[in-house]
Amino acid sequence: GSARRDVHDIVSVRRSRFARSQRAYYRRPMNLVRGRGVWLYDEDGFGYLDAINNVTHVGHAEPRVSAAAARQLAKLNTNSRFVYEGIAAYAERLCATLPDPLEVAFLVCTGSEANDLALRIARQVTGRTDVLVLDGAYHGNTTAVTGISPNRYKGPGGTGAPPTTHEVVRPDRYRGPYGYDDPDAGARYAADVAAVVAGLDSPPAAFIAESLMGTAGTIMLPDGYLPAAFSAVRAAGGLCISDEVQVGVGRLGSAFWGFETHGVVPDIVTMGKPLGNGHPIAAVVTTREIADAFDTGMKYFNTFGGNPVSCAIGQTVLDIVQGDGLQEHAADVGAYFLRTLHELRERHAVVGDVRGQGLYLGIELVRDGREPATAEAMAVAEAMKDRGVIVYPTGVHDNVLKIKPPMVFDREHVTRFAETLDAVLLSLR
Ligand code: PMP
Repeated sequence: GSARRDVHDIVSVRRSRFARSQRAYYRRPMNLVRGRGVWLYDEDGFGYLDAINNVTHVGHAEPRVSAAAARQLAKLNTNSRFVYEGIAAYAERLCATLPDPLEVAFLVCTGSEANDLALRIARQVTGRTDVLVLDGAYHGNTTAVTGISPNRYKGPGGTGAPPTTHEVVRPDRYRGPYGYDDPDAGARYAADVAAVVAGLDSPPAAFIAESLMGTAGTIMLPDGYLPAAFSAVRAAGGLCISDEVQVGVGRLGSAFWGFETHGVVPDIVTMGKPLGNGHPIAAVVTTREIADAFDTGMKYFNTFGGNPVSCAIGQTVLDIVQGDGLQEHAADVGAYFLRTLHELRERHAVVGDVRGQGLYLGIELVRDGREPATAEAMAVAEAMKDRGVIVYPTGVHDNVLKIKPPMVFDREHVTRFAETLDAVLLSLR
């Protein structure tokens, strides 16, 4: 056999065999060999509390998921044009989590692919091309969705918005024009959506938004924002797309899907990350009316989307989330986590804002008032990792520590996280 590679060998092969744009987490990464629940372990058996993995939704190496995958893999796997029972069971199960009239699914493999298809459906059905996006948003990596991701096209190496993409103001009450103290912030930010719609040369195909902005830095949309934004877009004949890739499947605690926390029903929903607990499963769900209007006679085929193994895994993930009460758990532990972080904020000037909902939280680090503490955020993440806790910066200024752990994260893990963060912040003063 070949000699065991250490972390330096792996990093060196990554350097030679991958493009530099494919960045790994951390300056001094660890070599991960296994995971369990909320824990990841390196080659020395050192455990890291994982506070950022919203892909492994029901926990790392969840035994019921592994068993379902192994069972199905040993029995039948094929492309999705054949007829088999698992795809029917999963489609019904997934659609049952959504309100009427969302009832028609496309099973795909990645969040990017889901958003790409949602965009294609919206453009086809409306016969239009223009799309409204929230400033700072990330919706994926295909050519089309990079073009609706300000987080990329305005970031390093970006070449700006395509002519069909129109940004609305990011409804960020910490940095934006309307703050937490403004009870009308939702209506005010939504007025900008109406103004952008009114200013278009031709009416929009769609408005796309996450129900809580992830990569933009845990930006909670203010109350009333989505209902008013949806109304403005629909009044112009546009479709409303909710990107639930990051925040869906019970993570926000008070609802299974993020849009439900805002009292809206989108025309198209896209979902991904948590559906397969790490296995690539994503989906687009829409109405019968829209799905029928998308049917021009052209075939839609997705080789891997909805294959028997994916469906077996997807079904098991939904069983676990619902059977184990993980949504309620996220509400309870998330509220406790947020209270704990508010206490930390009182004692550390570098913590400018803490926010979020359920098990999707963010800690915004600042200096001299509200200057983004970008370098500090990376230093904190690196130091936390050295002490066995995984958290990472994100946001338009890369100064927001994102917290979106496996949903089995408990109060004892919150305590461990908070004690470690407290110690690291003291050591970096
Ligand atoms: N939408 C959102 C909101 C995301 O955060 C991401 C990934 N971070 C995507 C879409 C793209 O998903 P994927 O990486 O599975 O293509």
